[in-house]
Amino acid sequence: MPTDRSSLAYLEAMGVDLWIRRDVSGDESGVEAVNELVDESVDESVDVADESAPPPAGDEPVEVTAEPETQTDVAAAAAAPADTVTVDSPADATQVPLEPETIVESPATEPADDETQDPVELIARADLESLQTMVSGCERCPLSRTRNKTVFGSGNPDADWLFVGEAPGRDEDRQGEAFVGKAGQLLNAMLFALGLTRDDVFIANVLKCRPPDNRDPMGEEVVRCEPYLHRQVDLVQPKVIVAMGRFAAQALLRSGDNISRMRGQQYEYRETGIPLVVTYHPAYLLRTPDQKGKVWDDLLQARRMINGG
Ligand code: SF4
Repeated sequence: MPTDRSSLAYLEAMGVDLWIRRDVSGDESGVEAVNELVDESVDESVDVADESAPPPAGDEPVEVTAEPETQTDVAAAAAAPADTVTVDSPADATQVPLEPETIVESPATEPADDETQDPVELIARADLESLQTMVSGCERCPLSRTRNKTVFGSGNPDADWLFVGEAPGRDEDRQGEAFVGKAGQLLNAMLFALGLTRDDVFIANVLKCRPPDNRDPMGEEVVRCEPYLHRQVDLVQPKVIVAMGRFAAQALLRSGDNISRMRGQQYEYRETGIPLVVTYHPAYLLRTPDQKGKVWDDLLQARRMINGG
């Protein structure tokens, strides 16, 4: 199994035996996780209060439990042009699952009669630094009222790998950084197994602000926020995008499909030519470590795409 020898060496360097190759295609070259990455790789000093909290954003069961109509609504809203989402329209209100109390009037920062001030246009022209500044002051959706800090994302602006999660969780909201806490440490271990560090990749979320109580993002929130991620992709120009978790996959692909069906497929992100693969969210792996082998398979698939395979 020559393609995985280096990764296994990294894991051995971590002092753990995991990500052992598993037969997934009829030969002996598959990959299987056989021990507890979480126990071996996660710093026990980390605050584990999240474990008793509601499932973190991006977490998911193996079988998608969201009601079918909710998935459809999210995908439909994400697919709709931003300027078609008019929150005070009864027709749109049935399409976008907004809670009445979270509905906001059109932000004063969006003068509709001046195209030069169209925030989406500004986002599409921003460099990474100015984009981060825009996110830090963004009030484009109701999450601006409940967040503590925006979470722009971080990493190498010239990265080959772009990892995309769902939305900030509690720790991210407090610190303003993507993928911190135990899920972040598990992601670090996954990167290490690939011979990568945070400085080699770029990590971001679909939403830049935490949904209250880690609830699922709503359709309008995705529509309002996705121009930021789209611009991040445009600026970083990764060789592969890894969508982590059901929601990130559905939002990026504008699909209501089940993550179990999306895994193992090769997609393209919005006709950019950038390949996209779907895998489980690290927070999900914290609760279901027996799925680590599948994630490793997905990461190897992504690496093959980078290498032109
Ligand atoms: S989630 Fe996105 S669109 Fe909503 S306030 Fe935060 S940065 Fe703005």
